[in-house]
Amino acid sequence: MSIEITRRSALLGFAAAAVSPASLVRAAQQKPVGWAVLGLGSYATYQIMPAFAHCVNSKLVALISGHEDKLSRLGDQYGIPKTHRYTYDAMDAIKNNSDIDVVYVITPPSTHPEFAIRAAKLGKHVCSEKPMAPTVADCQRMIDACRKAGKLLQIGYRCHYEAHNLRAIQACRSGELGKITSIKSDHGFNIGHGLWRTQKALAGGGSMMDIGIYSLNALRYLSGEEPVSVKATITNPPNDDRFVDVEDTVDFELTFPSGLIGHGTSGYSWRNGKNRYEVIGTKHTLIAEPATAYDGDRLTVDGVELPVEVNNQWAAQIDHMSDRVRHGGKVATPGQEGQRDIRIIQAIYESAKTGLAVKM
Ligand code: NAD
Repeated sequence: MSIEITRRSALLGFAAAAVSPASLVRAAQQKPVGWAVLGLGSYATYQIMPAFAHCVNSKLVALISGHEDKLSRLGDQYGIPKTHRYTYDAMDAIKNNSDIDVVYVITPPSTHPEFAIRAAKLGKHVCSEKPMAPTVADCQRMIDACRKAGKLLQIGYRCHYEAHNLRAIQACRSGELGKITSIKSDHGFNIGHGLWRTQKALAGGGSMMDIGIYSLNALRYLSGEEPVSVKATITNPPNDDRFVDVEDTVDFELTFPSGLIGHGTSGYSWRNGKNRYEVIGTKHTLIAEPATAYDGDRLTVDGVELPVEVNNQWAAQIDHMSDRVRHGGKVATPGQEGQRDIRIIQAIYESAKTGLAVKM
């Protein structure tokens, strides 16, 4: 196997997503960028808020929530002063809080647009969780609001900042695997009953929006191409109350301009779960499994593990945004990136309905 890995090549391999050594030095000399977390649910509490301890140029300075008890408990835990804890009703006051530079929206997807637009109008940069919003038009409203306010918009695609995924992108794009002839990604799990994720009004869709977006986004970032045509089928198990409003299993096919075909799957009823991608090149086969997990991602090439230095993907994502806030430059995962996925997901839904391929 001829593939070699260094930390530098892993981090520099993709869209300059990682914070550069020069910016790390700059960061150490400056006041950190202040972040407010909006929506204190599971992802905010267990992944995002703890990640600030690993950031070099970002600080958690404020909390915004619909629940006073969470503001109180998490505010105390993270040492957030009472003056920096806001209910949704009172959040307009963040306009006058110069400690807050960025608002990180971590609520159900259909609520992302209103919170993101509101934060931009209050003069703050915005990070929104994935999926960006239920429709392409919603995404456009978020992009327009941030542009009009002169603020940055980042979508929380953590894998674009994660070392194994950056290494996989480098392997795919550099020719190390040879010419890519086949690419496939599968993501699914077994969802519980009665959650917002199975209510279309809050989630915007089913498994495809929530977990299938990892398969879709990986096919795009590994190939470096945008699909010209999309074909999909949806399968829902009968008599399952989780799939009255939203879809379960999606099989989709993306035809890329080079002729490469990307195969993706997504599911909400998969007892054993799946989290993987596989890229077959003319020289080598790369498998990532798990591919996009919170930790423990693993890459093999022709069955041999690729050594990759683990990073904290959330801290990398947050620090990248903070670096752009302080020093300008493009965000690696801007609103347009989130909108591209939503446009393709809408085409996937349309194709599954009509049985026909949808041209992009
Ligand atoms: P969750 O249900 O644990 O938390 C959602 C939070 O939003 C809760 O605090 C809840 O009180 C609040 N909320 C619920 N309905 C609301 C409404 N109508 N208006 C305002 N607030 C409301 O969900 P979660 O798993 O934390 O997911 C939140 C967001 O984060 C979603 O967009 C999800 O897709 C995303 N997420 C991303 C990742 C990732 O790896 N990037 C992982 C998990 C979740």
